[in-house]
Amino acid sequence: MLGEGWKWCSDRPEYPDARTHAGHSARIQLVEDQFLEEGFSVRMKSVWRRLLGVEETVIRGIRFENEMQALVATVRPYRRRRGRCGECNRRCARYDPGEGPRRWRTLDLGTIQVFLESEAPRVSCPDHGVIVQAVPWARHDARFTRAFEDQAAWLATHTARSTVSELLRVAWRTVGGMIVRVVTEAEAALDRLNGLQRIGIDEVSHRKGQRYLTVVVDHDSRRLIWAAAGHDEATLSRFFEKLGPKRCAKLRLISADAAPWIAAVAKRYCPQARLCLDPFHVVAWATDALDEVRRAVWNAARKNGETELARELKGARFALWKNPENRTERQNRKLAFIARTNLPLYRAYLLKEQLRTIFKLKGDLGKAMLEEWLQWARRCRIGPFVKLAKTIARHRRDIEATLDIGLSNALVESTNTKIRLLTRQAFGFHYPEALISIAMLALGGLCPSLPGRA
Ligand SMILES: [Zn+2]
Repeated sequence: MLGEGWKWCSDRPEYPDARTHAGHSARIQLVEDQFLEEGFSVRMKSVWRRLLGVEETVIRGIRFENEMQALVATVRPYRRRRGRCGECNRRCARYDPGEGPRRWRTLDLGTIQVFLESEAPRVSCPDHGVIVQAVPWARHDARFTRAFEDQAAWLATHTARSTVSELLRVAWRTVGGMIVRVVTEAEAALDRLNGLQRIGIDEVSHRKGQRYLTVVVDHDSRRLIWAAAGHDEATLSRFFEKLGPKRCAKLRLISADAAPWIAAVAKRYCPQARLCLDPFHVVAWATDALDEVRRAVWNAARKNGETELARELKGARFALWKNPENRTERQNRKLAFIARTNLPLYRAYLLKEQLRTIFKLKGDLGKAMLEEWLQWARRCRIGPFVKLAKTIARHRRDIEATLDIGLSNALVESTNTKIRLLTRQAFGFHYPEALISIAMLALGGLCPSLPGRA
């Protein structure tokens, strides 16, 4: 297919800008006409545009670079797309020719890498100062084309990071930068904070050393809609500031864990919204209390030389944690063993399960059971659960709100779990923006479609 096309290549370093150097424009036209005569038809150009995944772009030449074993296409934006600010895309006065030709990597063709090459003149924007002009094939400040970055973002959402790196022949950290650009652009194009009524706020630890993200989910669309590094009043205030007073006034429900800073900020911005406690966090408290009991019993067994009991208890952690419907046969046997040999630990297990059932039942039945549960836990003489009973009594109003509204546990729990998994995917980025962006792709519905498939 290339055949004649190989000749179709400009040796001239680049064209001067047609708008400011009007005298040259005729010559450029002439050069292009020559290309046409040499067999690179308009049709071929459009085929190449599609092959390279670019729009509103003039393809001036194609050459194969032996040294790099790569295809290089010399391009320039359509006239109407030239001289625009790289940041805001506004038409601006030309400033200077910039630092010579630049290259952008685009999608591979078969086995070889492909680059676009173009001059990158600078313009003077009233808002953004002297800045490299926008190009239709790439995002500002990117060294990769839009198509390449979209594909990288899609892959990062759907497959393991080592696969993405190897397939695309780029470092994973570079993919991090691409993902941030893709998400920033998608968020600017789409206001996902419109029409919110019921939201969930959560804090998720994303690195050792107590680093946290604050995340906001929409209970209705079931999507992650906002996230930021940090977990304090100032961080969360940024979300409500972005939402603005009008949309804050429309929020009916805010679910969260029991963190006082969330309650304080929610009350300040949305006094009308009903605050309720996420079942996920309440059940997590019970799981923690249960584990405390298990460890105490295990330590006592070891001290008393009851090696068999100690061994069984050590392996019982998951049997106690898991919901009955997810337990394996072996875990069931472990639980039966505990029921036979250690009554306090088994009672602690039943207390945890009962609490979980309350949130499954919801409504008035749930509230009646909560009352019974509190009485049981207060009298159970198992330290961690007596303490838990106090905590739950303190938050009873917010828990009853959850039961009244019938809020399900699933969304917050799954978002929480998925973000933890994504943390692994984002490992190696070393900055939270990349994790937030990758979470937005996977959980916020911002993943682009594959190039050319929209
Ligand atoms: Zn600008």
